[in-house]
Amino acid sequence: MIPVNRPLLAGNEKKYLCAAIDAGEVGQGAFIEAFEKQFATSVKRKYGIAVSSGTAALDIAVKALDISPLMEVIVPTFTIISCINQMVRMGIRPVFVDAHPETWTIDVEKIEQAITPLTRAIMPVHIYGLPCDMDPILKLAEHYDLKVIEDAAQAHGQTYYQNPCGSFGDLSTFSFYANKNITTGEGGMIVTDDAELASRCRTLRNLCFGARRFVHEEIGWNYRMSNLQAAVGLAQFEQLPQTLRRKKHIGKTYRERLDEHVQFQTHAVPHAHNHYWVVGVLCAKEASQVAASLADRGIQTRPFFYPLHQQPVLERSETHPVSERLYRHGLYLPSGVGTTDAEIDRVAEAVRESL
Ligand SMILES: *Cc1c(COP(=O)(O)O)cnc(C)c1O
Repeated sequence: MIPVNRPLLAGNEKKYLCAAIDAGEVGQGAFIEAFEKQFATSVKRKYGIAVSSGTAALDIAVKALDISPLMEVIVPTFTIISCINQMVRMGIRPVFVDAHPETWTIDVEKIEQAITPLTRAIMPVHIYGLPCDMDPILKLAEHYDLKVIEDAAQAHGQTYYQNPCGSFGDLSTFSFYANKNITTGEGGMIVTDDAELASRCRTLRNLCFGARRFVHEEIGWNYRMSNLQAAVGLAQFEQLPQTLRRKKHIGKTYRERLDEHVQFQTHAVPHAHNHYWVVGVLCAKEASQVAASLADRGIQTRPFFYPLHQQPVLERSETHPVSERLYRHGLYLPSGVGTTDAEIDRVAEAVRESL
């Protein structure tokens, strides 16, 4: 079986992990601050707050903005449920915007019409290695006085023009899940330039312990990252340039092999070249049929996001045709850092047969 993701931990991961173990620092420890500092600096932010997942980072970021119940936040519908979990818990209404048919990121032309007097924030999400068009989003945010949370879970090391993804808006979030460009197994990070927001995020991450231990003014989470995870994270961070080179190579190779057979995400926009965090393709057939046929040939794939506006848990009755079509026809192919060139050739051939 060719797995959809094969991670590569071939740098200093073992060395740093052993150092953390030898130092007896498994929970708290020096790697956490080192990882936070280096990561935040790399995306031109003042503060980094390491947490236990990308979902945790989003929960904290949404909570930290203190948006009142019944207010609205604009979110792409073509994204993961993690973006809206905490909004739903707080009674904030996510307002969904469709994806662009070629870039698959939030369609910036459709954002302004979704803004109402209740709108308080926008959450742009970079998709599969291609950044959203941030300038129009930031302009709207300024004009309507909206907060911005940038979900950069799929965009480590990516840039929008010359600025790093993760440097935009009030808060940005990252994930270090096993298939992300930096992994700690499970993990995440919030970055910001705002000292007060940073301090609020640290408090929310750590059960809202107050100045007096075990005395709480507010309800938080245990969303801490362990020193063991941070040790791996720091080593992974050092490997990021190699990781990105490999991902771009994988994307380019699949395109060469399959360009006439499937539709790829846009390769380049004025603001960025696709990093191919994962290589997604749209097939003329239903994606589920192609996935089943590939599975028969020993190849694991993943479906695209099931649009948020169609999630049973939300009970919405709206339609966003582009995202619905992306789900019906899209899947992503094995594209981990450890995926070999020979495997890519086998996958490409199997895709051609399956179509
Ligand atoms: C992976 C991902 C998340 C969630 O991160 P986890 O670490 O899996 O909780 C959030 N947003 C996007 C866009 C992601 O790709």
